[in-house]
Amino acid sequence: MDLQSYPKPDNLFEGLNGAEVDKEAGEKVWKECLALISRDVNTQSLKTWFEPIIPISLDAGKLLLKIPSQFFYDWLEEHYSALISAALTQVLGNSAGVEYAVQEDNPEDSPLPSSPKKLRSEESSVSKPPGGGSTMSPLASVQSAQRAIQTFLSPRYTFDNFIKGDSNQFARAAALAVANNPGGTSFNPLLIYGGVGLGKTHLVQAIGNHVLNHGKAKRVMYISSEKFTVEFVDAIQTDKMREFSNFYRSLDILIVDDIQFFSGKEKTQDNFFHTFNALHQLGKQIVLSCDKPPKELRGLDDRLISRFQSGLIADIQPPDLETRIAILRKKSMDDGIELAQDVIELLVSNVTSNIRELEGCLITLLARASLENKEIDVELAKDVVRSVIGEVRTHVTIEEIQRTVCDYLSIPEDLVRAKTRKQEIVNARQMAMYLCKELTNCSLKTIGLHFGGRDHSTVIHAYQTVEDLSKTDPKYRSIVQQLRSKIEMRAPLH
Ligand code: ADP
Ligand code: MG
Repeated sequence: MDLQSYPKPDNLFEGLNGAEVDKEAGEKVWKECLALISRDVNTQSLKTWFEPIIPISLDAGKLLLKIPSQFFYDWLEEHYSALISAALTQVLGNSAGVEYAVQEDNPEDSPLPSSPKKLRSEESSVSKPPGGGSTMSPLASVQSAQRAIQTFLSPRYTFDNFIKGDSNQFARAAALAVANNPGGTSFNPLLIYGGVGLGKTHLVQAIGNHVLNHGKAKRVMYISSEKFTVEFVDAIQTDKMREFSNFYRSLDILIVDDIQFFSGKEKTQDNFFHTFNALHQLGKQIVLSCDKPPKELRGLDDRLISRFQSGLIADIQPPDLETRIAILRKKSMDDGIELAQDVIELLVSNVTSNIRELEGCLITLLARASLENKEIDVELAKDVVRSVIGEVRTHVTIEEIQRTVCDYLSIPEDLVRAKTRKQEIVNARQMAMYLCKELTNCSLKTIGLHFGGRDHSTVIHAYQTVEDLSKTDPKYRSIVQQLRSKIEMRAPLH
């Protein structure tokens, strides 16, 4: 019995021979890698950075890939080397490696000899056996309990690079508690739920990485519910149910992502129920993620739902403005770029409910700036947002509103921020405050601050006054409406 090699990579080389074969094998391996990689990167990045890659050959466990440019290589190296290595290890095993050739106009593709940094699969996250040894002969499988297992964790998901915010702080705290004491808290199972692109996979994998990096447990495995299902069906078909069950029961921590995909798969659910119980009874930690609260899951056995609910359920909500800004700042800093405030504002006011999309915008922005040799400015950012989410809502600033109102009413702009109580100035100030509250995302406090440091209650009073006057005075109402459309025209929806 070989506990460790489950789930097994397919035998990719069956029936293949010679040079043609290398090519075919290369294509097959790369296709499998892409399937794995696509789980971790958004569609935009997949298009930009992975679709242009052409597999050339597979030779002695080395995959040769053709890429369009040196820049492209640097970008892959910087951003995706760990991901590619992890995928390759998963498909080919520990000794796999990858080399790149830059596409040139002459037909001879030269590998990148100048680059000392070839991507290697060793970087991927594999838990090492006790004693730190990492090379194993096939015979070592008899000592299977000692051997390394593949964790399927991506090293880029850590607590350190998970930005804390009101929207995720409960889930994050619960995840950290579990990571520090797996199986030892009452948070077992820990189930994290939330919408698409909000950080569920990041958080559940961060638990696995933390546990391994801090030596809290050894046998950690991350798997999606879809992959679990495929493995299960495969085990039945190949008559390996015993190995399958033994393997999963030998884990210290089992992390299952996106359990909503168990819906309607009764046999898999039944098996998972028993695996769950066995681990739970042994005091082993189970971590789950789901796109909705478990009680709203359809097509799932009630006894399984009740198990899922027996530990701690923590939700992740869409990130608020501050969290979006913090995430964007951190991610751009990680890329060595400090974005201008107006670019940040444009991105976070357009991409409000999906962090993966926010990342997608940033990556595309950086890529376009480098590939097209452009400045990263609001114009480019608008273009990128339009291509990623289909429309752009231009951010109106408080200053723009103040300028438009003062122009229209022919008063000097700085007076709305000054202390004066002259009636016409008070009037303009109130209208501007009203429009700021209506047309920006700014809080009352922020609006007050931009009007000479006034209190938020002054803004509320102004808002109420403008509302009341608009109801009773048609002329006043028409001025407010004209101002509103003037401002909206300068900040249209495309
Ligand atoms: P989900 O599994 O909920 O669909 P992911 O965990 O895949 O979402 O997150 C989408 C992307 O957003 C990932 O690249 C992840 O690293 C990033 N992300 C999500 N939340 C945060 C956060 N709080 N801080 C930093 N990055 C985050
Ligand atoms: Mg996910």
